[in-house]
Amino acid sequence: MTGTVEIGNVTKRFGKVEAVRDVSFELQEATTVALVGHNGAGKTTLLKLMLGLIRPTSGSIRVLGEDPAAGQFAARRFLGYLPENVSFNSALTGRETLTFYARLKREGSGTVAPLLERVGLGAAADRRIGTYSKGMRQRLGLAQALLGEPRILLLDEPTSGLDPALRRSFYEIIEELRRQGATILLSSHALTELEERAGRVVIMNRGLKVADGSLDELRRIARLPTRIRLKVTASDLAEAQNRFASLGEWRRVNGHQLEIDAAPDRKIEVLRRASADDSLVEDIDVAAPTLDELYAHFLRSQEVPR
Ligand code: ATP
Repeated sequence: MTGTVEIGNVTKRFGKVEAVRDVSFELQEATTVALVGHNGAGKTTLLKLMLGLIRPTSGSIRVLGEDPAAGQFAARRFLGYLPENVSFNSALTGRETLTFYARLKREGSGTVAPLLERVGLGAAADRRIGTYSKGMRQRLGLAQALLGEPRILLLDEPTSGLDPALRRSFYEIIEELRRQGATILLSSHALTELEERAGRVVIMNRGLKVADGSLDELRRIARLPTRIRLKVTASDLAEAQNRFASLGEWRRVNGHQLEIDAAPDRKIEVLRRASADDSLVEDIDVAAPTLDELYAHFLRSQEVPR
């Protein structure tokens, strides 16, 4: 399967700074991919390369089979982009602004009103942007990125400034587009919210790609322990700690719980033994490594000296 975006051994230097170093990956249709990394990791540089705003120092980039930095980049109209800091003319209304962008994209103005409704700005469409909250401006930015039913959406920190309800509705829109076949690349620091939303995670560190895969794949590679917590009848805590001592080092939590970090190959055994003893154990909680923990792990283990 060929990707909608193909990045092959791409390096981008700005003077002495290597913003992106020998990075390769492909993005496929109908997938949501999270691009994560510390400040300066090279995320925005990668987005700019895909948009054709800058050229790679070496390596190749194909977006829908074309070179985005070429003079004739016909696939440009299938690309939607939401920059990190959206800024619009505050004297214009939301509707005027979106109509302006629709013209630039050669879209009929008939698409403007439904898009404003879709991002929840229908009622505010004729208010000047100067009166909009940050979340409303962010949603207008998203509407702008969605003009023309893009096949590829590049979103830089798209949910910053959105409250939890707006974040949810933002991800619902994204998921609908993904189901319709769009490739969505989300550059973000908000790891917890990406955990359930992105089918794949690409982790960047100082210009290098240090991990790439689904959350399950990253968990398999990282082999981080799973946290298992047993709720024990308070009077039996010491007895339970003794009974399960052979399984490893248990910690006491909140007076009536025991917690252990189980390595992947011990996890099933710990669960089997603990759940077999229902006279002692009332409940079991299992917490797989979070994206936050995986992220920290890959930055630690793959950090290379410059
Ligand atoms: P953030 O999360 O802060 O947005 P990022 O991962 O998007 O960070 P980039 O903006 O891609 O990081 O920057 C990567 C590196 O390249 C940084 O060291 C940055 O200072 C440098 N850089 C980016 N653009 C330029 C430029 N036009 N000129 C010089 N250096 C640049």
